[in-house]
Amino acid sequence: MKKNLILTYHKIFRENDSVNQSLADQYSVSESDFENQIRAILERNIEIVSLENLFQGKVESEYSVTLTFDDGNASDYDIVFPILKKFNIPATFFISTGNLNNGKLEVEKLVELSENKLIEIGSHGLTHRDLRTLKDDEIRKELLISREYLQKIIQKPVDFFALPYGSGDSRIYKLCSECGYKAVFTTRKQINPVKKGGFLFNRWTIKAGTSTESFGYLLNPDSFSHKSMQLFYMILNPLRKWIGISGEQRVLDTIRKLKYSRVKNKA
Ligand SMILES: [Zn+2]
Repeated sequence: MKKNLILTYHKIFRENDSVNQSLADQYSVSESDFENQIRAILERNIEIVSLENLFQGKVESEYSVTLTFDDGNASDYDIVFPILKKFNIPATFFISTGNLNNGKLEVEKLVELSENKLIEIGSHGLTHRDLRTLKDDEIRKELLISREYLQKIIQKPVDFFALPYGSGDSRIYKLCSECGYKAVFTTRKQINPVKKGGFLFNRWTIKAGTSTESFGYLLNPDSFSHKSMQLFYMILNPLRKWIGISGEQRVLDTIRKLKYSRVKNKA
């Protein structure tokens, strides 16, 4: 079966921009790292497919990549959009509508993005809260108000929903479907089988700490390193329910420190 890897990015920042750099956090990726990652995908002749084509099962290659950007940051327009146009590659922006303007993406720029054929727009909720902590009525509001607002301003259907903090459960998935979404996107670090009519899709988050080496593993699904990374997250993903995303981060930080001290001891 054909396989697809959906990458999730958040904010992209310019290294020489001190304002942006001070706002950078572990979820921000620098412009040069981002562009190098795009080049690495293209150099390996890996097809970059749109989310809609992935959803429809319209993918030629055995292994493909899909790009998504969460939250609706100003960098979607200022930094990512020019790079997408330069390489002529598609991407989806998942927008938290409560964030629009307010120092993040401006509405006029979102409209301009949506008018480009490379770009798809999805919802990332209204107030960016963990839906698992909300009652059904509040979840419906998050799902419906954000969707209706986006559809009104971009004048196109909004069919896809990316879960804030990547977390959901069967109650939330059912509500997403009832509210008209055709597919839901988590941040479970696994690749997806390509098939028509899937509903729940995994995504792999790229962070500031994602090394060139581990990004390379992601692009090579048959390698031992890729398979062991997937197995590692297959075990870690279900634990998130108990340890939370911050707990997951602590586990990853500890592993990184152990690795680092091993390298240091060797040297
Ligand atoms: Zn988010």
